[in-house]
Amino acid sequence: MAETAGRTAGGKAPVNFPADATEVVRRLTLEEKAALCVGKDYWTLRGVPRFGLPSLWLADGPHGLRKQPRSDNVSLAGNVPATCFPTAAALAATWDRELVRAVGRAIGVEARRHGVSVVLGPGVNIKRSPLCGRNFEYFSEDPLLAGELAAAFIDGLQSAGVGACVKHFAVNNQETRRFTIDAVVDERALREIYLFAFELAVKKAKPWLVMAAYNRVNGTYCTEHRRLLTDILRNEWGFDGVVVSDWGAVADRAAALAAGLDLEMPGTGPENVRDIVEAVRSGRLDEAAVDRAACRVVALLQKAAAAAGALAGLDGDYVNAHHALARRAAAEAAVLLKNDGPILPLAPGATIAVIGAMAKRPRYQGAGSSVITPTQLDNAYDALVARVGPARVVYAPGYDLAADVPGRERGPKPRLLSEARAAARQADVVVVFAGLPALYETEGLDRTSLSLPRSHDALIEAVAEVNPNVIVVLCNGAPVAMPWLDRVPAVLEAYLGGQAGGSAVWDVLFGDVNPCGKLAETFPLRLEDHPAHRFFPGGPRTVEYRESIYVGYRYYDTAEKEVLFPFGHGLSYTTFRYDNLRLSAAEIRVGEPLRVTVSVTNTGPRAGKEIVQLYVRDVAPRTFRPVHELKDFAKVALEPGEAKDVTFTLDRRAFAFWDTAAGGWRVEPGEFEIRIGASSRDIRLTATVRVVAESETVELEREPDQREAGHQREAGQAPGGGEDRSATAAPPEYLHPKDCATFSAGAFAAVYGRPLPPNEPGRRGGYTLHTPLGDMRESWAARLFLWVASRAARFVLKDDPDSPMRRRMGEVLAQMPVRSLVMGGAAGLNRTMQEGLVDIFNGHTLRGLRKLVSGALRRR
Ligand code: BGC
Repeated sequence: MAETAGRTAGGKAPVNFPADATEVVRRLTLEEKAALCVGKDYWTLRGVPRFGLPSLWLADGPHGLRKQPRSDNVSLAGNVPATCFPTAAALAATWDRELVRAVGRAIGVEARRHGVSVVLGPGVNIKRSPLCGRNFEYFSEDPLLAGELAAAFIDGLQSAGVGACVKHFAVNNQETRRFTIDAVVDERALREIYLFAFELAVKKAKPWLVMAAYNRVNGTYCTEHRRLLTDILRNEWGFDGVVVSDWGAVADRAAALAAGLDLEMPGTGPENVRDIVEAVRSGRLDEAAVDRAACRVVALLQKAAAAAGALAGLDGDYVNAHHALARRAAAEAAVLLKNDGPILPLAPGATIAVIGAMAKRPRYQGAGSSVITPTQLDNAYDALVARVGPARVVYAPGYDLAADVPGRERGPKPRLLSEARAAARQADVVVVFAGLPALYETEGLDRTSLSLPRSHDALIEAVAEVNPNVIVVLCNGAPVAMPWLDRVPAVLEAYLGGQAGGSAVWDVLFGDVNPCGKLAETFPLRLEDHPAHRFFPGGPRTVEYRESIYVGYRYYDTAEKEVLFPFGHGLSYTTFRYDNLRLSAAEIRVGEPLRVTVSVTNTGPRAGKEIVQLYVRDVAPRTFRPVHELKDFAKVALEPGEAKDVTFTLDRRAFAFWDTAAGGWRVEPGEFEIRIGASSRDIRLTATVRVVAESETVELEREPDQREAGHQREAGQAPGGGEDRSATAAPPEYLHPKDCATFSAGAFAAVYGRPLPPNEPGRRGGYTLHTPLGDMRESWAARLFLWVASRAARFVLKDDPDSPMRRRMGEVLAQMPVRSLVMGGAAGLNRTMQEGLVDIFNGHTLRGLRKLVSGALRRR
């Protein structure tokens, strides 16, 4: 057996471990193999000590390291201090692969310093709705942008010898009922929108792990979804790492293993190990599935141990350097949405009224499992005073951060408004810090409105009445409505800028950094305008993705809907000219690469960076397609007067759509317009290329060994002899979308290709381990249990009294089914006891009590 030198996770004693995972697994008992497929506790895996393979730590990310001091700790507070970088929503606005890579690497370095081998991130789920409570943690509404940035992040993280875990696979686009909801999504939307970011990340950056999401997709839990986990992820995309469950996402351990889920987290005690062993012994599960999963876990342990042996170069004092990186990232992420006058950059010597409590108590990261304990925290007020001295700064809080609770807002406080007006009158310019307080944006809960708290809107209106020079700085993780937009000259979207965001804001406002961020998501005018509005968040069982591929700008631009700010929008203190668009050929054959070159010139007075976006439009599609789609982008730095050529190379996929009937990526020969834009609504140059082929071609996704046999085949030869239905199957509303809200169930069923599943609530007597606690309203016992469980969970999170998850625990727990309570620290509640509870909630009290007792005895 080959031997590789390595070190233990602590980085001390060298050990030898077998390089060949299969060989290790061959020598393990069934019980040992099964034990490898279930975590040891909340954060660690079991190692294989007799082969010198140490256990390893996984810890949350994604915008910093969230390592708990103890591996059985379920709390959200008390993490080791780590650099809190801007969250993914902000990082995405940089459109900067290099910068995102650097952030990934820095997080990897910190993970290594704390003995963590895997960081649970990045999150690449698509922002289907601006209301998803976790949008701050995701990159974009566009899968190409999300996938490219995720790949950069993974590359950086893994360059430090720490594995990335891409999450949450897949179609996990809402927090409402996230443990149970069934996402009903058609194959085109699945492939073109919801899987594509994962596909890019997996193929380009080879993450060590992929995390299977909580929800179901088209009827099957992601953790049991053979098609997603095995057919697509492994066989089509070539993923060879470990598939881990999201915490508490496994419904049936044996079924999950058979489908391709290698590792269950967190550890649930001996029960699930026993389930695996029993499933094999009873013939319900093929032992080969356990071998495969154990093998992958062993390979992961080996990889981690080998990486832990190479600590060189990671020992320096990173704290200040990483803070500086966080500041640079936050400045580059800030999007200048509006700058009339221009009022910005701020004139030197001006007196400034800083208004809004968020200037002193920054909103810098989202809430939930990604909460980082920062190494230091800049606030905008102190940062400004340090920069210009106290004499030129006046401050007023403007609103009471503690008073705003979603659904129970008290509105503006007259005293705070009049103080703010008085401060605004004294100053040359007013900078208002407004945004979404932490309780408004948290994992576990979706938003219900686009609005800022009323107290923030009222504050902006109030100061704008007394001073015309109002600059609004927004601190939020997702789009918000701006009813006051016409009354203020400037708006800077600062997003959740991480621990250095408070300083970075002034870097941009004073012009040390020329703003260069652009929106990675559309800001709609009204909530009713967004394409999923009528079908989000769905429930009680299903959420229909009726808008199909019309997500974000794909919809707004196709339906020509007015928006507040379009995808890709962002202003600069300089100006750029685009010209001289050149294509490498006027005509290409399908599959032949096309090179696109454009010149960009800085025509203004300052150095700046421009994000150049390339969209492709199928001029005469035969099936439904968005008017255009982002196919590449580049960020170019230019001195005043400087010009640079930017070149993109488009491959076959840039022209293709997913042909459901044929089961592959089809390119229809014809004309395609290449559009170069400064945003999706600001197309500066276009050129046309003709794509030719003897007939339409479909690139089939095949098993790797078959792939070499060639990609293309003639149209009409769909697998299994299916005919091309893609062009004819599209209902008229999809071909010419005007308003996704009008997409009927019948039209969607035609696109979906089968009848839509029922969406009935569970009734007492029919409750199962999967019924959300909040849905068992017909049972007083369930209501009582929910009340007690909320109290218990609040106690578990007592170290973090202000945590939004803790303060809204009743709502969070109501979404949770009994089987997932383990992720909330109820590891002692084994499956038999869980079944007992459900029996009681269904009215079978005696039977339930018996199970509770026998489960408790079994535990001992
Ligand atoms: C979240 C994951 C996270 C995990 C561990 C889950 O609830 O969905 O993103 O990594 O908890 O904290």
